[in-house]
Amino acid sequence: MTRAFDLKGKVAIVTGGNGGIGLGMARGLTQAGASTMIAARNAEKSATAVAELRALSPDVGSVEVDVLDQGSIARMVATTIERFGRLDILIANAGTNIRKPPEQYTADEWSSVLDINLRGTFWCAQAVHPELKRAGGGKIITIGSMTSIFGASFAAPYSASKGGTVQLTKALATAWAKDNIQVNAVLPGWIDTELTTRARSEVSGLHERVEARTPLGRWGKPEDLAGVAVFLASSASDFVTGTAIPVDGGYSSQA
Ligand code: NDP
Repeated sequence: MTRAFDLKGKVAIVTGGNGGIGLGMARGLTQAGASTMIAARNAEKSATAVAELRALSPDVGSVEVDVLDQGSIARMVATTIERFGRLDILIANAGTNIRKPPEQYTADEWSSVLDINLRGTFWCAQAVHPELKRAGGGKIITIGSMTSIFGASFAAPYSASKGGTVQLTKALATAWAKDNIQVNAVLPGWIDTELTTRARSEVSGLHERVEARTPLGRWGKPEDLAGVAVFLASSASDFVTGTAIPVDGGYSSQA
């Protein structure tokens, strides 16, 4: 059975893989045997992530990408093929948030959140599709959030982008089933990362509210996302597509 989770010979791109949840998932894929490409904007942060992952495997690289730019996404895919010769897995994890009451967002703020989280996910999926098809199939993992399910009063564009990500995931899953590509979303609960360090400083009482509401009684850690990433990237999930899996310590099960 462990062979079902084996990623030896598989090649993965993780956008936003240089920190937080992306790095937690990249670590899981690398431990399971995948060759892993870390793709993000900050080259220095990516180099640090690569150095950490190289302790697990030599088959780790990084490439600069801005998911706002289709040319940059095309170069990310081309660089990965040059380096590792094929592509099997995309984790479209790059994301951002701007927190404020809905009546205060400017047009630019709305666009920057929607464009990175939703359009960026779509563009990355579209760019990897020919390579996954060429490989005979593949796996795309998108990242939703608790705001894919619930509203957040301080995150209207983020909630819209993460709700949209789940519907986009279903659309891609149905379109690309014929190419043997499975597309699934992961919905992380509240995970301790740079993104949520900022949230806790901006939303008073958030830390305690999350702890109190989460049945498992704690914030998540990036490594809590490694198992679901390996499952959805591996042949263990070959009959799983179009789903959205919460990894939230029970947060979304609590009334
Ligand atoms: P981080 O801020 O730690 O990571 C975000 C990552 O996205 C960074 O690696 C950043 O790298 C990258 N990124 C941002 N913008 C771009 C861009 N334009 N192009 C390429 N890369 C970009 O946050 P998290 O790890 O918390 O978030 C990761 C994902 O998980 C996001 O989609 C987020 O919405 C989602 N999520 C997080 C939750 C949490 O509780 N932490 C809960 C639910 C969902 P760089 O700056 O180098 O480009």
